[in-house]
Amino acid sequence: MELPDFDSPAKLRDMLEGNGWAMQKKFGQNFLVSPGVRGKIIDLVDLREGIDAWEIGPGVGSMTSLALDRGAHLIAFEIDRGFVTMLNGFFAGFPPERFEIVQGDVLKTWRSESERRGVPDRIFGNLPYNIAATLIADFVESGILPERMVFTLQKEVAVRMAAKPGTADYSSFSALCASAYTVKYEFEIKRGSFWPIPRVDSAAVSMVRRETPLASRDRGLFLALIRGLFASRRKTIRNNLRSLSALNTLAAPELDAAMGAAGVDPAARGETLSVEEMASLADALSDVMKRGER
Ligand code: SAM
Repeated sequence: MELPDFDSPAKLRDMLEGNGWAMQKKFGQNFLVSPGVRGKIIDLVDLREGIDAWEIGPGVGSMTSLALDRGAHLIAFEIDRGFVTMLNGFFAGFPPERFEIVQGDVLKTWRSESERRGVPDRIFGNLPYNIAATLIADFVESGILPERMVFTLQKEVAVRMAAKPGTADYSSFSALCASAYTVKYEFEIKRGSFWPIPRVDSAAVSMVRRETPLASRDRGLFLALIRGLFASRRKTIRNNLRSLSALNTLAAPELDAAMGAAGVDPAARGETLSVEEMASLADALSDVMKRGER
């Protein structure tokens, strides 16, 4: 099957209608019809021969085609059966060691793929807005940490991901991403770069894995703390820790001792802490808990 003209909404519409493939609004199907933007994104992904890459939501295959041109071994995760049939037709010339599609909801399929094939070198995608933050958080929380990830997202989500401590946009999601990645807000993407035109603004973000992703002695506690410190943004760190169920075995003086050991001001707000400080606090809390168990 011949590749369609990815830059022309009219030709894409004709191709879809001609094959009886209806667009499905519930799957957030907005295609990047700007070749300039596609080129900038694929450059950020930094693909070359031998690189294992995952693409989330290939749609009609415009980014897929660029990734395959650059020699990557590509696994594409797509929920829409019609698109899967279409993509299999477009890229039939590629053997399975270069290109495969996993059909289904990526939130449910990615874990078994990572167990089977290991962690890829790259993950990229123009993500459906309703699953973007959940999917990225799932990867980082599960320790699925490719060297580089590049996503197109709703602009507000991109801003939150890259936000720094002490700013209004800094959230548990920013801290979680920063625990393993250097996150960069790359550029805004105008609504007109997509077809159909979406109702929200978009942006590209890159995530480059830290040389040493932050680890704490108790990962479960570290993740609970990242969430708990932002549970109520108006509360102090001390009060947010007191409400955290993972810490309910600790009395107030023990919590204060852990904050003291980590050099954290109990009266400050969680949003002022860097993720490094959160990791130190998780370690100090874990030490205090262990002392209590003896
Ligand atoms: N990559 C294409 C592009 O940039 O033009 C299409 C991007 S479109 C915003 C999102 C794509 O993700 C669609 O192809 C949609 O069918 C697919 N999708 C939506 N929800 C999904 C899910 N839960 N799992 C896998 N794919 C999904």
